[in-house]
Amino acid sequence: MINEGIVNVSYIIATILFILALGGLSNQETARRGNWYGIIGMAIALLATVFGEVTAQYDKLIVALLVGGSVGLILARRVQMTQMPELVAILHSLVGLAAVAVGFANFMDPGRLAHYAGVELTIHDIETYIGVLIGAVTFSGSVIAFGKLSGRIGGSPLILPARHWFNLLLLLGSIWYGYEFVVQSAAGGGVTPLIIMTVLALLFGIHMVMAIGGADMPVVVSMLNSYSGWAASATGFMLENDLLIVTGALVGSSGAILSYIMCRAMNRRFLAVIAGGFGTGGGTPASSGGEDQGEVIPVDPQETAALLAGAKEVMIIPGYGMAVAQAQHTVFEITRTLRENGVNVRFGIHPVAGRMPGHMNVLLAEARVPYDIVFEMDEVNEDFPDIDVSVVIGANDIVNPSALTDPDSPIAGMPVLECWKGTTSIVLKRSMATGYAGVQNPLFFLDNTRMLFGDAKATLDEVLKAL
Ligand code: NDP
Repeated sequence: MINEGIVNVSYIIATILFILALGGLSNQETARRGNWYGIIGMAIALLATVFGEVTAQYDKLIVALLVGGSVGLILARRVQMTQMPELVAILHSLVGLAAVAVGFANFMDPGRLAHYAGVELTIHDIETYIGVLIGAVTFSGSVIAFGKLSGRIGGSPLILPARHWFNLLLLLGSIWYGYEFVVQSAAGGGVTPLIIMTVLALLFGIHMVMAIGGADMPVVVSMLNSYSGWAASATGFMLENDLLIVTGALVGSSGAILSYIMCRAMNRRFLAVIAGGFGTGGGTPASSGGEDQGEVIPVDPQETAALLAGAKEVMIIPGYGMAVAQAQHTVFEITRTLRENGVNVRFGIHPVAGRMPGHMNVLLAEARVPYDIVFEMDEVNEDFPDIDVSVVIGANDIVNPSALTDPDSPIAGMPVLECWKGTTSIVLKRSMATGYAGVQNPLFFLDNTRMLFGDAKATLDEVLKAL
């Protein structure tokens, strides 16, 4: 057992490291360093907590650490890059579950009424109640998000007839049972209102995420990220642990900022997303579609290589399909070959490309694509009239012109990469299936679009060979 002063100093150091980690992660070039700050901060926090806060029962703690650590290690080793978004969602659910468990344990602690009385007891009870509430919403919401992202639950929004009234009822119920809980707790009871509220909060989490359509899922992912932070923060209040309060608040607020950025990227109002009902279709692509939109013009890898070799300006637009095909390394090889031959190759990254924020950046960084040729959508969208060839790799929704022209589209109003303004677009995908939002893409049928059908890795390998 180390003394309290050392624990507090360790907590402050860990907090500073977490802030530096967030700062580092905001830029690709410093992301690796940011990760290290985070790892070291977490190690210090864990050691200070284990040796400073825990007074007995080390055996149970070690068993729990071994079990949790092994599960984490196995999951991290096994998970495919394409399953990252659902892994993140399910990890958020664990933070929520932990907050609920800590809340109940805290409430049932026999020493509670001896420790607290009067106003202090009321404050403590409110902390517990809010912690369990946020935790339960985070838990059930994240489980549904996991289901939607992994395709186990359909992506189309669930629209109950009186859904706003239903939400309002759940909210009013939670407030009423909160009052009941505080009153009954002072008299030694309170477990019934706490359980009822937990059920209401679980229902609210399920309903909230079920009501959000496929096209709005990016916001849900970042929003649940934020909720998991607030759940951790609430746990910190319950356990009177300053580090957990601060860390939770850091995660909560950075998740909120990310939600805002995603909303702006999709041109959506946050409240409109939460209210749900937008975005139809889902993770399961339609088998066909667009019959009435005309013919598409297919090309083969050799023709693609010839088009690329003859270009001066090339824009690569990666999407979810590049992650599925794991084509990033071949993409890098093609980029290097073209650049060595004097072709100016750049990457245009849409903020919601893939299935999680920053998905494409992570893949390109893994393949060692230089950062200085990777651009955000806003930085390159004006340049398309000067682009000779755009290569759309497994992307669909993020290059769909109907987002700008069809007000009834589930992705209406979302800014997209306007590659059709360039000379030629080559779209790599396996079929004519739709993307995540479930809408057909008129880009495929334009005169200056060529379709290169097949798995992106396989076709790009052929293109590389031909180059
Ligand atoms: P899309 O889901 O719109 O399109 C991906 C395309 O990739 C599909 O049309 C598919 O076509 C193709 N594809 C799949 N596998 C392969 C493969 N092995 N080889 C070649 N092509 C393949 O992805 P986008 O990146 O364009 O857009 C992202 C979408 O996901 C947006 O709607 C966004 O809202 C949503 N979303 C984003 C999140 C985020 O945080 N970024 C989170 C949740 C959802 P085919 O089957 O014919 O091959």
